Amino acid sequence: MPAATELAFETVIGLEVHAQLLTRSKMYCACSADYADAPPNSHVCPVCLGLPGALPVINRAAIEICLRTGLALNCLVPAYCKLDRKNYVYPDLPKGYQISQYDLPLCVSGYLLFESGGQARRGGITRVHIEEDTGRLLHRTDLDGGEVSLVDLNRSGVPLMEIVGDPDLRSPEEARDELVALRQLLRSIGASTGNLEEGAFRCDANLSTRATDGSVVGGKVEIKNMNSFRAVERALRFEEHRQRELLARGASVPQETRGWAEARGVTVSQRTKEQAHDYRYFPEPDLPPLSISREQVAAVRASLPELPAQRRARFVTQFGMSDTEAALLTSEPRIADFFEETLGPNATHADARVVANWTVNDLLGLQRERGLPPDELPITAAQLKELVAAIQAGELTARAAKELLPRLERAESPRAAAARLNLLSLDDEAALAAAVRETMAVCPEAVADYRKGKTVAIGRLLGETIKRTGGRASPDRVRRLLERALHEE
Ligand code: ZN
Ligand code: MN
Repeated sequence: MPAATELAFETVIGLEVHAQLLTRSKMYCACSADYADAPPNSHVCPVCLGLPGALPVINRAAIEICLRTGLALNCLVPAYCKLDRKNYVYPDLPKGYQISQYDLPLCVSGYLLFESGGQARRGGITRVHIEEDTGRLLHRTDLDGGEVSLVDLNRSGVPLMEIVGDPDLRSPEEARDELVALRQLLRSIGASTGNLEEGAFRCDANLSTRATDGSVVGGKVEIKNMNSFRAVERALRFEEHRQRELLARGASVPQETRGWAEARGVTVSQRTKEQAHDYRYFPEPDLPPLSISREQVAAVRASLPELPAQRRARFVTQFGMSDTEAALLTSEPRIADFFEETLGPNATHADARVVANWTVNDLLGLQRERGLPPDELPITAAQLKELVAAIQAGELTARAAKELLPRLERAESPRAAAARLNLLSLDDEAALAAAVRETMAVCPEAVADYRKGKTVAIGRLLGETIKRTGGRASPDRVRRLLERALHEE
């Protein structure tokens, strides 16, 4: 029982994501937006180098992708929005400002439905706006041992969108689950690769702590430098714990920005409120405000594909599966496509159950074992379709199919492979009868038990007979033969 004076705390988390948009060119110039493999400073022009007099032009495709995202996130799209300069000085920002959006963003007031801890959740989306990326700094030691910093501006001006979530998350797990769902959504609508390792999907979070009775409220702490979903959850858990400890012993939690130090597993103070940037936002004078027509909004909305949450809900109703199973099968669009392709039209719930079991238990297991990417499976839909059909036709036992699966070559017919590996069901009546006779001869106790009325003893006889056929006998058929033999005499 906690002491009466002990405070109960509540955690408040909000997410902020920067995602790189899947466009060919940069946000305000015609340079290629692909900076992954290009030699440093090869995809640059006066605009993204920030040279005096160069004028930006808005990338239409980037606006459209941002709109798609906003609509997929159930946002409102105001009829009018504008671009603003966010001013700060850093060597990777040649213009001395970023062209972003401040008080009038492209999309506002949406939400994302996701699942966390088996519960359906709704995460509010404050806004989605467009902005541009900065260049990259490379820190090196030169031949004399001196420290040098090199600037690569290929990434300067690459289209980004910033997605700001409402501070309505209550735990690190929930924050992680919403992020995973958001990445999935962006990938499903072709807005971004969502690749965390390559920096195409970057997440910051803010976390604050308050007493549930409202008597104590800590400052808002912004956390940066989290480079994986695991890092997000770990960093937030650390921060939640740190803040609760401070408040529990009567100390305060100052408002500040902290960085996640992955190797040490702690967050470290980067700057306090006093050192916070003043970005001196003002409207971008070189670009006109944007009017978004209702027709354009309707057209983009109509072009949206089925979203992950919708597909998940459809799987539950159409195939009669659990939320968890539907979530697993729709976590990657290509896995969901595979599942539906294997099933084909007019599938029954029973068919869906069989294909879902093979996909979730066997194929995803094999995928992990082989270290395949999360959206790639070891066999094709046509192969699984044939495998399931062969089992249903009694040509292959489930046990033999499981043995066959990891030995199946790419695009090889499962029936042909089963024949090659001598795994096809034993169809020879005489051979099956011989296996039954042998079994009864070597297991007289089980035979006696069964005949005395202990019918469960048939299990042992069944197992033994199947073993004698090298696992190739259909259990149903062996059971029928055994029962007949046991009742004879
Ligand atoms: Zn350029
Ligand atoms: Mn930003």
